[in-house]
Amino acid sequence: MQSEAQTLVQVRGLKKHFIVGKGLFRRGNLVQAVNGLDFDIHQGETLGLVGESGCGKSTAGRTILQLYKPTAGTIHYQGVDITTLKHDALLEYRRKIQIIFQDPYSSLNPRLTVGNIISEPLLIHHPEMSKQDRLDYSKELLMQVNMNPGFINRYPHEFSGGQRQRIGIARALAVKPEFIVCDEPISALDVSVQAQVVTLMEELQEKMNLTYLFIAHDLSMVRHISNRVAVMYLGKIVELSDRDEIYEHPQHPYTQALLRAIPVPDPVYAEAHPLQSLEGEVPSPINPPKGCYFHPRCPMATQICREEAPIFEEKTAKHFCACHMV
Ligand code: SF4
Repeated sequence: MQSEAQTLVQVRGLKKHFIVGKGLFRRGNLVQAVNGLDFDIHQGETLGLVGESGCGKSTAGRTILQLYKPTAGTIHYQGVDITTLKHDALLEYRRKIQIIFQDPYSSLNPRLTVGNIISEPLLIHHPEMSKQDRLDYSKELLMQVNMNPGFINRYPHEFSGGQRQRIGIARALAVKPEFIVCDEPISALDVSVQAQVVTLMEELQEKMNLTYLFIAHDLSMVRHISNRVAVMYLGKIVELSDRDEIYEHPQHPYTQALLRAIPVPDPVYAEAHPLQSLEGEVPSPINPPKGCYFHPRCPMATQICREEAPIFEEKTAKHFCACHMV
C-alpha cells in the first residue's frame, strides 16, 4: 500500500487489546480496541483518522506514540521499529513525536503558569537549558501560535478554549517535533474557533515541515486539513484514500453513511439530499460480530458478510477498502 511519497511511519498488523473488569475472582473481559491496522503516514502530510466514539482511533494514536505497548504488530518510524526501542533511543523518539490533546480544559495543569506549561517538555529533553532561556523560548513559541508573549505568567483558567488549545500546541512544539498526533484537537471547541485552530496548524505544518495524524469523529472535521483520510470502524480501518477521492467516491458503506450524516450549507442541495443518520450502535469491542464487523448495520450485507471478514485491499489506484461488495 505504498505510494511514491516518502514514508515516515509504517504501521503493520497493529493490535492493542486491554483486559477490563479483572478482579480477584474475575478473569475480566478482553477489549479488542485496535484490531489489526495497516497504513503508512507520509513525510509532511496530514492523515485524517475518522470514526465514531469507541472505534479505537485514539488508542491507535496513543499506541503509535508508545504511550501503550502494542499487543501485536510493528510501528516503524523512519525505518526503525520503535516498539523495540529502550532508554535514550526511546527518549529521542518521544522528542520527535508529540501529541495535542482533545480537551484544552483538562490537558493543561491549572497550577502552572503558561510559561511553565510550555517549557515543561524542555526539562526532560533539554535539561542543559537555563530557566531564563526556557522562558524566553516559551515567549517565542507563544508568538508562533499567535498569542501575546506577555501571557507567560498567566494561568490556564484565564484563557478561552481556543487560546488554551494554542497553548497546548505551543507545548507540543517546544521540543521541535517532526510528527504530531492530534487527538481530536478541535472537537471540544466552538465551531467559530475550530477553523482558526485548523488554519494555525496548517501554517505551522508548512513552516516547520510537520507531519500530522489528525484524529476526529466526523468526516467534516478532517476534510480541510487532510491529504488522505482513513476511516476506522471497531478497531479496523475500513477505507483509506486521498481526501478528494474519499469524499467524492466513497466505496465502503460505512464511509457513505458517515458522509450522508454531514450537514451541507447549500439549502438547495440539503433539500434534495436530506440528512440520514446511521442506524444502530457500534457493537462492543468485547464481543465483535463474526464476519464483517459492520454487517449488523450495513444495508448491503449478504450471507458472506456474516461469515467472512473482508480483506483490506487496494480496490482502485491508491484507494483501499475492506468490503466484499466493492
Ligand atoms: Fe456491508 Fe458486507 Fe461490505 Fe461489510 S462486507 S460493509 S456488511 S457489504
